[in-house]
Amino acid sequence: MNCHPQIYEGKAKILYATDDPEILLAYFKDDATAFNAQKRGTIVGKGEINCQIAAHLFRAIEARGIATHYIDCPSTHEMRVKSVKIIPIEVVVRNIAAGSLCQQTGIALGTILPQPLVEFFYKNDALGDPLLTRDRLLLMELATPEQIEILAAKAIEIDRILQEFFQQCGITLVDFKIEFGVDKHQQILLADEISPDSCRLWLTGEPDANLRVLDKDRFRRDLGNVEDAYQQVLARVLGVKE
Ligand code: UDP
Repeated sequence: MNCHPQIYEGKAKILYATDDPEILLAYFKDDATAFNAQKRGTIVGKGEINCQIAAHLFRAIEARGIATHYIDCPSTHEMRVKSVKIIPIEVVVRNIAAGSLCQQTGIALGTILPQPLVEFFYKNDALGDPLLTRDRLLLMELATPEQIEILAAKAIEIDRILQEFFQQCGITLVDFKIEFGVDKHQQILLADEISPDSCRLWLTGEPDANLRVLDKDRFRRDLGNVEDAYQQVLARVLGVKE
């Protein structure tokens, strides 16, 4: 049992303090939300699955030279992470058009983008996480110009690593959202999680637009078999060397 004070509860995780002020414990919940928490539900086993997927991906990313907040997993649904101040920007990288990109631009679902597209959204539920321009980002002082360049460069590199990783397990990385934090040395670390909650993952070679979906879109769009899809991603991810 964890007796340490809870310092934050988000939609998918609870963060606890630990004996070490530099370290937090993230507990991954089974709760699922979509459409800015207007749709709520539970995906049985999601907490454990996402914790293990995120841990494996963080280790792979770290091994390829990108610093992350990941330390280790004391249990299947708990992750020890370095304490960081989260930069309130959701960085989205897209390789294939889906979701809000299609809705807002008219680009057809499934269009392969000529190069990865990096987008910044304001992490603010009350405002509905709006898409930001770089100038708005600077105006709002959410990050310095130097930090924005670092975030964009890291996002592109993480995309390269993840695309190669998922390719090895027969999954196509359509898009994903990541968050960064600043540690006490002012170093920027990849934080939060990378999981089927935060990525669009399609089964490579599956032509059926519904059957191919292995991510939270199954929950968002009531496609069924959500747990099976998450479980399948875990099994495939664990099969790839970190
Ligand atoms: N995403 C996320 N959290 C959010 C919004 C988006 O993890 O609050 C992820 C989403 O799962 C997808 C990518 O970011 O992999 C791009 O999402 P998009 O902008 O298309 O938003 P959507 O239309 O899915 O809400």
